[in-house]
Amino acid sequence: MAVRGGLFISLLLLMLPVERIWSPRPRQGLRAGVWTDLVHFFVNPIGVGHSLAMAFIGLELVFSFAVPKAWRTLFGGMPFLLQFGCVLFVGEFFSYWAHRLSHSQTLLWRFHAVHHSSGDVDWLSAHRQHPFDTILFLIAANLPAIALGFSGPLVVFVAVFHRTFVTFTHARMRLELRWLRLLIVTPRYHHHHHDRDAPPSNFAGLFPVFDLLFGTFHWPEALPTNYGVQHRVSKGWLGQLFLPFIQAPADDLARPQGTSTIRKAR
Ligand SMILES: [Zn+2]
Repeated sequence: MAVRGGLFISLLLLMLPVERIWSPRPRQGLRAGVWTDLVHFFVNPIGVGHSLAMAFIGLELVFSFAVPKAWRTLFGGMPFLLQFGCVLFVGEFFSYWAHRLSHSQTLLWRFHAVHHSSGDVDWLSAHRQHPFDTILFLIAANLPAIALGFSGPLVVFVAVFHRTFVTFTHARMRLELRWLRLLIVTPRYHHHHHDRDAPPSNFAGLFPVFDLLFGTFHWPEALPTNYGVQHRVSKGWLGQLFLPFIQAPADDLARPQGTSTIRKAR
């Protein structure tokens, strides 16, 4: 609990001034859903993530019998930064597809819709995520690297880095960083993914190259202003936890289908 609290205070001290300096619009008081997102914060990235991290280190042992020794020697012998980059890149490829499927498959969208239900997107709303959704993303991002023979502790280290980066890409910032948009996902880039009026796009979490490759890159001139989902999602944490098992978000199914309306990058 002390680690979770420490991480929360650190992110709060870092992100509050950042969002204040580059705020797109002034905010009056606390936004709706902040307390719910706070519960998500303490349950998800560290609660679920920590358990899975332990599982991944255990899985490394299991895979060590299946992965050819030559692979492990090859990957383990790479310079640290190269290993780090490879794990990020492999994880990003599988995360891209897990994310894209979460928007096109009814069953997955039930859970992913919780993440998109926030009417405002900021650093804390990054952590509004159904635990099933978290587990799917953690498996997609980390298991292939483990199966390839990269070391478990390195994969866990990359997962922590990724989670921190995701906090930044959800930040409520007007900062354009236009020149970065083809290289790395920025808050502006990811906010377009949360835009209700945008086509299903910008599924990459780190490298826009996957959106460019698979035709889902989206960068309009106007900043997104319309966040959330069309169907009703419970406002409380418990409701968000159980509703996906009970009710399909039928009225939103039209939105996350296909990717044919992607506009050209400017
Ligand atoms: Zn999404």
